[in-house]
Amino acid sequence: MDMQSVMNEKKEKKNNSTSNESKKEIPSVFSVKNLNLWYGEDQALKEINFEIPEKQVTAIIGPSGCGKSTFIKTLNRMVEMVPIVRTSGEILYSGKNIFDSKFRVEELRTKVGMVFQKPNPFPKSIYENIVYGPKIHGIRNKKVLDEIVEKSLRGAAIWDEVKDRLHENAFGLSGGQQQRICLARCLAIEPDVILMDEPTSALDPISTLKIEELVQELKKEFSIVIVTHNMQQAARISDKTAFFLNGEIIEFDDTNKLFSNPSDKRTEDYITGRFG
Ligand code: ADP
Ligand code: MG
Repeated sequence: MDMQSVMNEKKEKKNNSTSNESKKEIPSVFSVKNLNLWYGEDQALKEINFEIPEKQVTAIIGPSGCGKSTFIKTLNRMVEMVPIVRTSGEILYSGKNIFDSKFRVEELRTKVGMVFQKPNPFPKSIYENIVYGPKIHGIRNKKVLDEIVEKSLRGAAIWDEVKDRLHENAFGLSGGQQQRICLARCLAIEPDVILMDEPTSALDPISTLKIEELVQELKKEFSIVIVTHNMQQAARISDKTAFFLNGEIIEFDDTNKLFSNPSDKRTEDYITGRFG
């Protein structure tokens, strides 16, 4: 399917369901202000200003090496695990700057979950994968943990496939199932935000579709930021899209607008496949 048909199909769906949705002012879950980031001497993010809307799907697109992964790992401060990282600027979450020395990073990480490109379940049973986070937070009651497991696995649309094998090793599942286990593990800590870094790039088309459908379902409850190099995927599943290039945001707009009528020539060149 070409990009125009993806967009038309999406427009129809939107018209049928929500007529006024785009006119409402949507609050931001993150307000990024003048963010810069360096790996040693190399600047990877440049003066990023970005309002990430609540309970929407925000896609980040752009060629390889333009700072997409760096950016989303900044939102939960995971990027600082690389010792040479330096940042300037602010990221406000619930009105507080996450770089503030008083800001509690552990709390941030319980509110901002992440799913990676390659499924990375722990080498443990399905059950233990899901209860890992809740147990760290001190939940010990078996009945409560059982409930969390069922709710999280249902939320990630994998309960029916695994309910009879919860105590088998998660490595025995297919790649697509493993990715949904990782998503369930993320839901188990009850986050506000789910960050996804190319979550379907290692999956087959059917598993990809399942994750895409799931994202549509999850945005009712969570704010989702998804990095994807698949522009059709961005067009299909996101409300807003940001185009990154060389560590800068070139354009950020409603997904329909960005793909049908981009404002910047570089966005147009990228989405029409002239580079990248
Ligand atoms: P993308 O996800 O868009 O492909 P990245 O965020 O991974 O881009 O990388 C952006 C830039 O930062 C690249 O130039 C990359 O080489 C550099 N970079 C990423 N991770 C590191 C690291 N751990 N140490 C040094 N440089 C890094
Ligand atoms: Mg990346």
